[in-house]
Amino acid sequence: MMQDNDDIEGPGLSKKSADEEMANRLDRGSEVETTLFEGVRGLDDKPVQPVRYKTTDSFKFRCHKGVSCWNLCCHGADVTLTPMDILTLAEHFDMRPAEFVGRFTVPDLHPGSGLPVPKLVMTGKEGKGPCVFLDDETGCTVYDSRPVTCRYYPLGLGAIKMKGHKDRQDMYFMVKESHCEGHKEEKEQTVGEFRKEQGVEDYDQINQGWVDILMKMASWRSMGGPMGKDVSTQTKKMFYMISTDIDAFRKFVFESKFLDTYEIDDELAEAIKTDDQALLQLGVGWLRNVMFNEATIAMKQDVLQGAISAARTEFGAS
Ligand code: SF4
Ligand code: SF4
Repeated sequence: MMQDNDDIEGPGLSKKSADEEMANRLDRGSEVETTLFEGVRGLDDKPVQPVRYKTTDSFKFRCHKGVSCWNLCCHGADVTLTPMDILTLAEHFDMRPAEFVGRFTVPDLHPGSGLPVPKLVMTGKEGKGPCVFLDDETGCTVYDSRPVTCRYYPLGLGAIKMKGHKDRQDMYFMVKESHCEGHKEEKEQTVGEFRKEQGVEDYDQINQGWVDILMKMASWRSMGGPMGKDVSTQTKKMFYMISTDIDAFRKFVFESKFLDTYEIDDELAEAIKTDDQALLQLGVGWLRNVMFNEATIAMKQDVLQGAISAARTEFGAS
């Protein structure tokens, strides 16, 4: 499907066979689970509790300025930034996303999917010191724009794909670090109430597709990858570019054959000139199409017909 666009490759199979292989593997496959955000500091041996929570499950926790551990969780934390975190934080600093990412993040690999993700810089030796945004007196200096991982803490977010199910399900787990006094507080809430209070829901719509990509790649890899291959370097680069540098993706859309290749209506084409969130949604949808052949974006009919003719010629069918 992408032969007219040589700027990105899929995981290495033709789309039809990739789809069939994925479906077959999911049918016979077992449960696949991957951690998306957990924020643990790695000081305790086993801070992650072996219990999965649903949105309706309750837990006792309260964090407030009166706790003796105030801000301890903001030292040496493992904070993966989602694309929405980057747009929000860049806006907070009145920067473009690429500048924000260059100054305040380091690239890392998401362990389940193997895809590159940006992590928030922690200062100090081996990154065990305070977060770049922590002020000893006032706490988090970007509180209203803080990343999703920080909003979830002490919950971690994971995704699970059950045997026989095509779609992932979100699941939550408790990170119980010994220094965190918040677990001794009496306030009880459900996971759903906590998510609402922390403003996580506002980030969901944009981040969902991106999280889906991490989960699907984790599924592929847990089963050996498509035909034993890892995702291509070019695809990893595009994933990272769309995740961290929306201006570079905008340049790609407007200066490559992208708009001649895909059905993008005039209203959307106009909006993505300036609307970062709309462009991010388009980019994530496009990645899902390229990587997993999902029907998230449609190719123009004449491009599709040309591709079919070229394939028929290649296989000697015409
Ligand atoms: S962004 Fe704020 S809440 Fe998150 S680790 Fe840094 S200081 Fe703490
Ligand atoms: S109670 Fe837990 S979350 Fe709150 S400041 Fe202390 S360590 Fe951080």
